This record gives sequence, structure tokens and C-alpha cells, in this order.
Amino acid sequence: MARIVMKFGGTSVVNIERIEAVADKVKGEVDAGNQVGVVVSAMAGVTNQLVAYVDEISTLYDAREYDVVVSTGEQVTSGLLALALQKRGLDARSCLGWQIPVETDDAHGKARITAIRADRVVEWMEKGKVVVVPGFQGVAPDGRVTTLGRGGSDTSAVALAAAVEADLCDIYTDVSGVYTSDPRIVAKARKLDKITYEEMLEMASVGAKVLQTRSVEMAMKHEVRLQVRSSYSDEPGTLVVGEDEIVEQELVSGITCSRDEAKITLTCVADRPGVAATIFGPLADAAINVDMIVQNVSADGKSTDLTFTVAEADREKAVQTLKAEKSELGFLEILSDSDVVKVSVIGMGMRSHVGVAQKMFSALADKGINIQVISTSEIKVSVLIEEEYTELALRALHHAYGLDAK
Ligand code: ASP
Ligand code: MG
Repeated sequence: MARIVMKFGGTSVVNIERIEAVADKVKGEVDAGNQVGVVVSAMAGVTNQLVAYVDEISTLYDAREYDVVVSTGEQVTSGLLALALQKRGLDARSCLGWQIPVETDDAHGKARITAIRADRVVEWMEKGKVVVVPGFQGVAPDGRVTTLGRGGSDTSAVALAAAVEADLCDIYTDVSGVYTSDPRIVAKARKLDKITYEEMLEMASVGAKVLQTRSVEMAMKHEVRLQVRSSYSDEPGTLVVGEDEIVEQELVSGITCSRDEAKITLTCVADRPGVAATIFGPLADAAINVDMIVQNVSADGKSTDLTFTVAEADREKAVQTLKAEKSELGFLEILSDSDVVKVSVIGMGMRSHVGVAQKMFSALADKGINIQVISTSEIKVSVLIEEEYTELALRALHHAYGLDAK
């Protein structure tokens, strides 16, 4: 017997037929003798529709009312699933965010969970009652409804799992697990049996959007064992766990790419102390996140080029922000380019093995792919390359690190 939290994403509850299928899955776990808590998303597409309604009335909306509206999608699915479970003879009930309560701060639209008072839920679970909790929603200190930011139901599920001290938090979705690379691009990508929290965080931050990043951070902090799995099959998915649970650590676990990148270059920037601070200050003030940076050594000791990347959506704003400061910053030209992609190699093995980056550089060189910018972290090496080489680069790297399926 185990205590588990099962979370179902929007595509898993997209219509009544799928909700009935979810109910069968939940019943399966109860029949197997497990204590079960369930967290549900809104039916796929519903949250977008609710956001659109709000936008239609006012783009300068009151975020507290935005939350009242967009939190409702999850309320609908929690009630429907409770009904489907009752139809199967289970003792089930919904329990909304404010009823548990899932306490959050008052940052409406992107609230953070501060505490979950789960005593009552635990009591119910011990008595065999199935509690169905709508994800994505909570309650602010003043009692008003909050939401956790798009994709927030993953975080609700992990928080509930932590609060009830669940043995496992199963995240049911429309993919069967976490893959070594995007299977739509790399045909030989494999499903991973296990991956560490750290690797999963890096994967999420560079484009593999299976889980909301915050949910992985929370799982890591509270040591909640996660499993990403398909709601369409009974096959085991990918376990996201602590390093100690992984016996044979692979050197590299994943190759990812992010197309949401823009490269900005300032030419002939003065090569003197304080220049980087003057450039990146205004960008930070404009809430633009700068990712990779490369500054060339100046040939003449006086001026140099500075290149960095921002999210595609911030490109225009970044260019305008810097242009406005041109006299202050004293560069010659500002160039920007969106035909770039960031390719990353991720693996815990990098901490203890040398030559991982070198292997990446030579695999790309062998294919004649030019590297524009490089950045590294403890368990990740990223390069910026021309977008048209994305597929070629991913496949070459997947092969080079021995990840190809047999
Ligand atoms: N329904 C919300 C969204 O679409 C939360 C979630 O599904 O995780 O963002
Ligand atoms: Mg999601």
C-alpha cells in the first residue's frame, strides 16, 4: 500500500470520455489498496478561453478578478471527476483551493504557495476517500482566490504530495515520459527511466516543457518523487528523483533545443571597466532577462563587440531600450538576429567527467556547424547556432553521446 497523488493535465481531461478514463485509472489505484489524492487541470483549451474573455473586457484588468475567472476551469473538472468516481462506487469528493486551504501569497496571476493545511485531506485519504483537488488555484491571506501562473497545476500536485507526504506523485500527461531529446526531431530518442531533479530543471529551462519549472524546484526541495507518464497507457513513465536513487548515472541524459532565442550584438563598445554594467543595467530595469553573453577581446585595446541573447519576445524591447541609451553607451551599431537556436547538452555526469564540452564542439565541427555563443553551468553546456542546423545538430549530438536507441 502506498499513498499517491495523481495529477491529470488538460489533454487527459479534455472531454467526458477522457474524464471517465481518468476515473478508471484512479479506481485502479484505489482497488490496488493505495490511498489516493487527485489533482486536475482544466479541460485543454478552457483556460485560454477564460483568459481571452478577460482580455476582451479589459486589458488593464484587476488581477484579483482575473483569478476568479481563470481558476474556474479546474473547478469544473474536479467536480466532474468526483462524479465519475462516485459512479464507480468510490467515496469521492472535490475540495477547492480555499477549502483545503492551499495558502498562497497575494501575487494574483502568479501566486506562490506558502502552505497547505492537509490534516483533513490526510484523514480522508486514510479512510479511503478520494479527494479531487483543482490545480492552479489557492487562496490569498485576505481570503481572495489566487492562481499560480500558467501550467501551475503541476505545482499544485507537487505541493499536495509534499503536504500529505505521498510516496509518489504521478503526473499524467500526453507524452509517455521524459525523452533524451525531442522525438519529433530525433527519431532515435529514448524514454529515460529516471532523471534527477537537477537535470529535469535544466531540461525545462531550455525548452523541454513537460513540467512547470516551479513544480520541479518544489519537488527537489521537499524530495517528492515524481513520475511523468501517459494517461493513455499503463506503462511506467520517467521517474524524477534525487541523485541517490540513480544507480548508473549516464554521462549525458538529454539534448534539448530552444528556438525562442534572439541574438543581439553591439559593435564597437568601449573596452573599459563598467561598460557591461552600463549595458545590462537598463535591460534589467526593463525586466529583460539576458541569457548567454560573449564579449570579444578588443584588437586595438579600445573597443570590442558584445553579443548576448534574450527571449524572442523581448528582442524588440531590448533593441529599443539600448537605442534609447545610445549616447550613454557609445556603441556603433546594434544588430539583432532571430534565426538562432540554443542547443544544450545536459547531464549530471559532467560534474565528474572532463571532455564533455569538447565532444559537443567537435561533433558540431564535424557537421560544419558554426558556434556563435557558448555558455555553461555545472551540468549543462549550451551553444547558439544558426536555426537551420537545429535538426542536424540534435541528431549529431544524440549520436555522439551514445544516446541513440538501439
Ligand atoms: N489550466 C491552467 C493552465 O492552462 C493550469 C494547468 O493546466 O496547469 O495554465
Ligand atoms: Mg501542463
